[in-house]
Amino acid sequence: MNLPKLSLTVALAAAGFAAQAQGHAAHWNYAHGHEGPAHWAELDHAFESCAKGANQSPIDIRKAVKADLPTLQFGYAEAVPTIVNNGHTIQVNLPAGLTLRVGDTTYELLQFHFHSPSEEALSGKRAAMDAHFVHKSTGGELGVVAILIQSGKNNAAYAPVFAHLPRQGESIQVEGLKLNPAAMLPTDKGYYAFEGSLTTPPCSEGVNWMVMKQPITLGAAQIKAFRRLFNANARPIQPQNGRVIRESN
Ligand SMILES: [Zn+2]
Repeated sequence: MNLPKLSLTVALAAAGFAAQAQGHAAHWNYAHGHEGPAHWAELDHAFESCAKGANQSPIDIRKAVKADLPTLQFGYAEAVPTIVNNGHTIQVNLPAGLTLRVGDTTYELLQFHFHSPSEEALSGKRAAMDAHFVHKSTGGELGVVAILIQSGKNNAAYAPVFAHLPRQGESIQVEGLKLNPAAMLPTDKGYYAFEGSLTTPPCSEGVNWMVMKQPITLGAAQIKAFRRLFNANARPIQPQNGRVIRESN
């Protein structure tokens, strides 16, 4: 495949990374040590929800209740991505204008990023990876669409990202490169819906989770390329605490 020449910006990545370097935000990671998931709440007062929250994510999806959920209306279109390695994942930032309508709520797509293995589990089973498409509504509510990823056929829609994985702290734009996030979704738009949180500090709650029922595939080489950078960046499964998981008909 003929990929456009990598040129442009290689800059210090997300504001979060810069803030960390200056000591404004606590360091955290996915390891077993004192900065790992079991200790996130102790690292910063702002991270309290990671331990005290009752609606934390990710969860193991089981015993879902069939419900008349609104159709996910994706208004995604071709856009110029900025690919960032923020030290915790590869995140792809997108310009304004890509929307998701769920019932009366209109969200805008901010970014998508990856975890390996998948954070969501289905009846106790995690997938090889997942992608989280993070949206914000006009009212300020967060809505995350999660897509489970299995090892299988190479995925052309994701190829531009996996061919340009930046090094830690770097943010790149590739001249002439466009992505179509609509092509990155599974064909079947059925989903599970439940309340949860961010899966990284500060673990803020009030996030509307929509987990697509149909997984997609990435090629083994694509998954390997990601795992070379992030070998294990999934938060452990959190208690469901009586939350109802609804499933589209
Ligand atoms: Zn995520």
